[in-house]
Amino acid sequence: MNPSVPTLPLISQHELQAMTYSDPLTGLGNKYRLRDKVKLLAAERASDPAPFTVGIVNIDGFKPINDLFGAHAGDEILCQVAHRLQACMMDGSVVTRHEGDEFAFILPLIFERGTAERVGQMFKDVLSAPYDLGDRSVRLSSSFGFAIHPFAGEEFDDLMKSVETALYRSKRRGRGQITVYSHEIAQEMTRATQLEQALRNAIMADSIDVHFQPIVRLADASVIGFEALARWRDTDLGFVPPDVFVPLAEERGFIDALSEALLRKAAETALSWPRELFLSFNLSSAQLMNPSTASNILSILACVGFDPRRLELEITETAVMSSADTAQTIIAELQQAGVRISLDDFGTGQSSLGRLRDFTFNKVKIDRAFVSRIRTDRPSEHIIKAIIAMCDGLDLEVVAEGIEDAGEAEKLKGLGCAMGQGYFYGRPADAASTRRYLREKHHFIDVDVI
Ligand code: C2E
Ligand code: CA
Ligand code: CA
Repeated sequence: MNPSVPTLPLISQHELQAMTYSDPLTGLGNKYRLRDKVKLLAAERASDPAPFTVGIVNIDGFKPINDLFGAHAGDEILCQVAHRLQACMMDGSVVTRHEGDEFAFILPLIFERGTAERVGQMFKDVLSAPYDLGDRSVRLSSSFGFAIHPFAGEEFDDLMKSVETALYRSKRRGRGQITVYSHEIAQEMTRATQLEQALRNAIMADSIDVHFQPIVRLADASVIGFEALARWRDTDLGFVPPDVFVPLAEERGFIDALSEALLRKAAETALSWPRELFLSFNLSSAQLMNPSTASNILSILACVGFDPRRLELEITETAVMSSADTAQTIIAELQQAGVRISLDDFGTGQSSLGRLRDFTFNKVKIDRAFVSRIRTDRPSEHIIKAIIAMCDGLDLEVVAEGIEDAGEAEKLKGLGCAMGQGYFYGRPADAASTRRYLREKHHFIDVDVI
């Protein structure tokens, strides 16, 4: 051999195998190791068909760690995660690095949902302790998906698909969730994907409609404005209620596109109403976290030619709470332009009276839950009385929601409530029916006709 030619170190068969089967960062086995182990276990169990469980954990919010603190911090966390999970393995369990911030495990002695969930909870607790990054420490939650062999798939690929479906459901439901695969969950996920796709298409095709429900002055039942409510009928899925598709649009990140299209339609319709009528429009909580919301809304109004002073925006306390500073700025900018702000569903959720002082609302909408019990339940009556008195003192207008009969209307009038809304005064109706309603019931003449 020529001594001047450097020799490459020889890699033994054993070393090569170790390299292809292990993850260099954490030293754990990799996804090929997982595949082989699962196949081996399934083969072993072929004669004695005892079920076993496979799972994946995904570290929530891992990407921002890499972005904020650098890849080194990310690597450090992954090594600590590997170490902690390894320490949890017992009874022949194995943990492997799956990919990125995902780790997989095989739990040979876990064969039913309840135990899988308990083990998941234990792993979750172990992973939720702070991670030491030298000069700082961070806390992270984690999401889990489990599938039980052979029910969730006999073949490796099918079993892993089930684990992924369970994990996907956990991730969709927010942070720190644990899901064990079942056929119902698979169906739920298929429906959710179908719904999401259909909603995406409906938004692109601009086929989501707006209906309008009258808001009246209780003293004489005269209409003073309308609340815009989104309506969607899909050819395959049928009628999908807004409290299903609005949260879905928020979750999947297309609420801005949806809301802008709805506001444009609602404002265009409201242009043909008498000028003294206002349009009340629901803002979703995600929009109050987006600093460009105020300018988006104002530019839509300018484009349509709708006077901002005729617009009211309904927002909820949860929305205000989740990003208070941004929400405050958005509200201030809109109010400056003449838009009025209503606090929707008041009395439900984590109501805080302090919020009424910190934020400058113009109106409070008392939730239907109180109104529907006003005649049978003394506490509800007292709560409504208290809300009305408080709003009087704070110079806030009050609307009672969900009035369904004359008795409720009378009672509310007696308590000094000035405005109301509900099926008793009119159900939400499309633009054409709303015009007819205005013409017939209130002798208004269409602005277009004049
Ligand atoms: P919300 O803002 O509290 O709207 C009032 C809901 O009560 C509407 O349901 C309305 O149809 C219903 N309602 C009105 N009067 C009565 C009554 O007398 N009895 C009963 N039982 N119900 C009554 P809807 O249209 O199904 O909307 C549900 C929720 O979906 C809304 O609650 C709102 O949170 C959300 N939503 C609807 N449209 C939009 C929208 O364009 N944007 C956003 N962000 N959310 C919307
Ligand atoms: Ca509302
Ligand atoms: Ca409401």
